[in-house]
Amino acid sequence: MQCPCGSKLTFEQCCQTIINNKTAKTAEQLMRSRYSAYATNNAQYLYDSYASISQQEQSVSEIKSWAKQCQWLELSIIKSSDYDDYSTVEFSTNYLQKDKLYQLHELSKFIQEPEPEQNQEQTLEHLQWRYLDGKIIANKVIRKIKANELCPCNSGKKFKKCCKKIK
Ligand SMILES: [Zn+2]
Ligand SMILES: [Zn+2]
Repeated sequence: MQCPCGSKLTFEQCCQTIINNKTAKTAEQLMRSRYSAYATNNAQYLYDSYASISQQEQSVSEIKSWAKQCQWLELSIIKSSDYDDYSTVEFSTNYLQKDKLYQLHELSKFIQEPEPEQNQEQTLEHLQWRYLDGKIIANKVIRKIKANELCPCNSGKKFKKCCKKIK
């Protein structure tokens, strides 16, 4: 399977390894891996990769139900920027929810935190990238998908025989 993040690599060569080993080296890699985790319904990884302060407002089950409601179609990274103590990634993505195609445009903020087991020694190698929060710039309906048209996920099947079935 192609990596959902749109890198043109396979999932194994790209985000799967980052998800399994929690080894994102940059904020953008973490952003991509979180996108792929949404696309593959990996709520635990999404929860774990939130900054600890943001985890308090999250639950694995809520993340799971949100990830399931949406079919994520494609990701475009617009801009990654690094600042002294955080980084930002601006992206836009198309997703399907029920029979509507949406476009989400967000500016996400990322910080580095020590791994949970490594709290004593905060050496640089043991810092992990985490998602702090995001500012939604726009989240709008692009159009409604008709049952008989080709599915926007590029499967080549009709919408009613493809993503419309996923609930
Ligand atoms: Zn990827
Ligand atoms: Zn589809």
